Parts: sequence; C-alpha cells; structure tokens
Amino acid sequence: MAGRTLLQFFHWYTQDGGGLWKEVTEKAECLASMGITDVWLPPAYKGAAGGFSVGYDTYDLFDLGEFDQKGTVATKYGDRAALEHACRVLNESNIGVIHDVVFNHKMGADEKEAVRVRRVNPDDRTQIDDDAFEAFAYTRFTFPGRGGAHSKFVWDHKCFSGVDVIENPDESGVFKVVNDYGNGEWNDEVDNELGNFDFLMGADVEFRNKAVYEELKYWGQWLSGQVRVDGFRLDAAKHIPAWFFRDWVGHMRQTVKEDLFVVAEYWHPDMDTLKSYLDLVDHQLAVFDVALHHRFHEASKQGGDFDMRTIFEGSLVSALPDHAVTIVDNHDTQPLQSLEAAVDPWFKPLAYALILLREHGVPCVFYPDLYGASYTDEKDGEHLSIEMPAIGCLPMLVNARQRFAHGSQTDLFDDPHLVGFIRHGTADAPGCVVVMSNGEGGEKFADLGGGNAGKTYVDILGHHQGEIVIGEDGRAAFPVGGGSVSVWVDNAAR
Ligand code: CA
Repeated sequence: MAGRTLLQFFHWYTQDGGGLWKEVTEKAECLASMGITDVWLPPAYKGAAGGFSVGYDTYDLFDLGEFDQKGTVATKYGDRAALEHACRVLNESNIGVIHDVVFNHKMGADEKEAVRVRRVNPDDRTQIDDDAFEAFAYTRFTFPGRGGAHSKFVWDHKCFSGVDVIENPDESGVFKVVNDYGNGEWNDEVDNELGNFDFLMGADVEFRNKAVYEELKYWGQWLSGQVRVDGFRLDAAKHIPAWFFRDWVGHMRQTVKEDLFVVAEYWHPDMDTLKSYLDLVDHQLAVFDVALHHRFHEASKQGGDFDMRTIFEGSLVSALPDHAVTIVDNHDTQPLQSLEAAVDPWFKPLAYALILLREHGVPCVFYPDLYGASYTDEKDGEHLSIEMPAIGCLPMLVNARQRFAHGSQTDLFDDPHLVGFIRHGTADAPGCVVVMSNGEGGEKFADLGGGNAGKTYVDILGHHQGEIVIGEDGRAAFPVGGGSVSVWVDNAAR
C-alpha cells in the first residue's frame, strides 16, 4: 500500500447551486480507482453568506445545510442529506473524509450588543489604547433558525476577543473587546506578524473562555456522530492559539478516531516559524508546505532560468518530512485569489511528479488541476476571465503513486535543468525512474542495479514514445522532452 493522497475537492470559484456533495458522490468510485485515498471537503456548515458562502465566514457550525438560516437551507455545496450521502459513499469507496473547519472567527451575528472596546493599531496589534469605550458590536449569535437543535449555546461578546466593526460610534478597524480573559491582551501562541496575529477578521473567537473551548470540543464529537469524519483541515491556524489545537486534536483522537488525519493551514514560508508551531502543538498534526508551493510558483515563472537542483530548498518536506502536506496550488493561491501565486500550467506535471512520486510528504491534488475550471472575477477594478486547464497526465500520476512510487529513493539532481530520481521498488511492488526538464529535452543515466538487466521500460505518461532496454550493467539513459516529465516503468509491471 503506497501512501496517502489527498484531493482538495473544491476551489474558490466552485459553482453555487448546491451541486458539490452530489458531484463528489458520483465521482467517489472513480477517484478511488485512480488512487485518491482522502478527500478534503470545503466547510460543510452555514457561512454568513448562506448559499453563496465558500465557507470561510463561519456563522453556525451546527447547521450542515439543515436549517433556514442566512437565506437558504442548503449551503453552497448542498443540503445536509446530500452531505450525509456523500460521506457514506466516500466511506464505502474506502476514501477518507477530511472536514475543513474555521474556528478563528464568526460572521453574520444575529444581534448587536453593547460592548466595551479599545482601539488597536492595525499595523501593530500589541498597541492597544488604554481608554476603553462603549459601542455596539455584532457579537450575539442566537441561531433563531436552528432554535436550539443540536446545541443550545448562545455566543455573545464574552466569546470574542476582537471585532472589526463597531456602531455608535461608527468605525471600522481593529478593536479589542474588553473581557475577563488575558488581562486585556490578545490570545498568545499565535503568529507574531503585526505584533500579534490573533485577530484576522469578523468576530475573533476568544479561546480562553472555557465555555467556548468546551463548545468547540463538543462540536467535533457531535460532527462525528452526524457524518463520517476521518480528519480535519484546520483553517487559519496562525491566528488561533497553538495550545487550543494541542488540546483539541488530542481530544478528537481520543473521542472520535485514534488515527485522525489533521493538517493545519499555517500559511508561512519560514521554516523556523513552522518548526516552532509544530513544537507548540506537540507534533500532533501536519501543515501545508507553503515554501515548496512558492518554489513551484517561481520555477514556473522563471522557466529555463530556474535551477531545478534547488527546487526543494527551504521546503518543509525536506526539513520535517513527516509533517508536510505538499501542494501545487489551492483555493487561496489560484488566479485572482488573496494569496495569488499560481503555478503556470506547463510546470504542473513536473510539480505533481515531485509531490506524488517521491518518498516524503503527503501530496494534495487541487480540484481544478484534475477537472479544469473556468471563472470570472474582478481584480483591481478589472473584469477578468480565468481558464485553468485540467492537467492531462494528472490522473496517471496519481495512479502511478499507488503502483510505482515504492521503495528507496536515489536522487539525480546533478544538472540545473535536467533532474530526476529513482524509486527502487520493493520485493512486492515495482519502482520507477522519473526524469524532468525545465529546459531542452535530454536524457538521464540511472543505475537500477544488475537485477534489472534486459528489462524493457516505457514512459507511463506517454510523453515519450519508445522503449528503453536496461543494459547488462543495470544502467540505461532515460529520455525526457523539453519542459516535460517522463515516468519510466518496467513494461512487464504495467
Ligand atoms: Ca484569532
């Protein structure tokens, strides 16, 4: 059994209309036979924008498309029955279900209430005005449409550490809510960008309130009683105190599933920051390899000027291979999105070969790369149309991970433009030779050992036609085209 392969089954511009749960149900069997082991679903609960919410504007964690709230019963992705059915079918297809959850903030409060706040310097959040004053803020969540079903918890200003909008006086900015926790300071064990990056947006959740903490623990257990849960993708981890997830993940593993897969979005390219974060959470989870994504972005932009020998430089998968979830793109990096640093299509087959076929890291495939996507959006006042083509060889690369990415690895990173690696296979499972070029085509010598003498190898991606016969000494030259990747495997093992 080869390694885990995640699929992020959505993107920022996934169509409205409630079709996604149905789509993933229909595709489950096909994904399983391709070699996808786990599907990362978008947030399944009701966001402030109701049926139009991508899901990162948490309104009600307990409304999985079941109650008439925020203008719709269903979420953007479908109703609760469709979600339950999707999770059941995924489970029957032996695909794990990874749920996306945004604990950092809430939006779309049902009522405003009088609060005491202190103004905060948005560029240095540690500079909090001494003077507190009264204002109104949207911090009361009563969920009238749900009427106490599943949980009776009502959120009010004691459940939040900060807000970005107040009324009377009408202002927007960053405001520290005066509450009983932390002597007026923000939550600690968060990222130190802007002095303290506890506050991101909306009504910022106060994790030091024990009742809030218990409610979020309860929610995790409750969710696993409603739908299949094999793991979580934790949004905005750098804005949430590390101690919270250190406790929460442990609690979920005890009560929900011992081998729960957990990956946190800690969007930071700096390895020391990620290492300290993993220390703080007792290495209980994985994080996305942001640094490697940036290397892919740069390599795709620089073309032949990029030195492929350095592609893994500074990456998490090199430094902490057991805690890296490797990605090529995601819903935040795709064109027109907030962290836009998209990888150009020509480079994606190379990037995917580098995350799917190597020894380390848990690779995560992005929906538009598998199925394509076209969408329009505004950016800087301009109306833009984006076409993300499906990467034709991606299903075969996903499949090749299960069938050929086995055994020890020998790197062939000895040329700036023509690099590759050998997977030597095991007694039970075959290996492969991966060769790629970001310049002109060429060939790479690989030593597979005398035991392979006389075997015939073919490029399973079909990028390079023809056959290579391994020499008596176990060596052969494996060709690759310009700006391309070839995955050579024993024809007899195909
Ligand atoms: Ca926060």
